[in-house]
Amino acid sequence: MKIKKGDTVLIISGKDRGKKGKVLHAFPKVEKVSVESVNLLKKHVSPEKQKQQKQGQKTGQIVEFPAPISVSNVKIMCPKCNKATRIGKENKERVCKKSNQKI
Ligand SMILES: [Zn+2]
Repeated sequence: MKIKKGDTVLIISGKDRGKKGKVLHAFPKVEKVSVESVNLLKKHVSPEKQKQQKQGQKTGQIVEFPAPISVSNVKIMCPKCNKATRIGKENKERVCKKSNQKI
């Protein structure tokens, strides 16, 4: 998989189309990535679980987290030319297909 954790990507399909964000996690086996502030799902944290983290807090809490999306729904933003691009590989290094620079 050519997209890695820490890359900035542009969402090209789905409800978050047009958003940009940083890749928080890459899941190469399933070809998915989770992207900051994209495809947010709500998860309820039970008081019991939370107690282990924060002593004394008794109410549950809703937390939002980015659910993984398919890499086919994103394009990498080239940090060198600042455009959504495709990546080529040259001698194991990633190369922007627009600017031909290593990224
Ligand atoms: Zn580029």
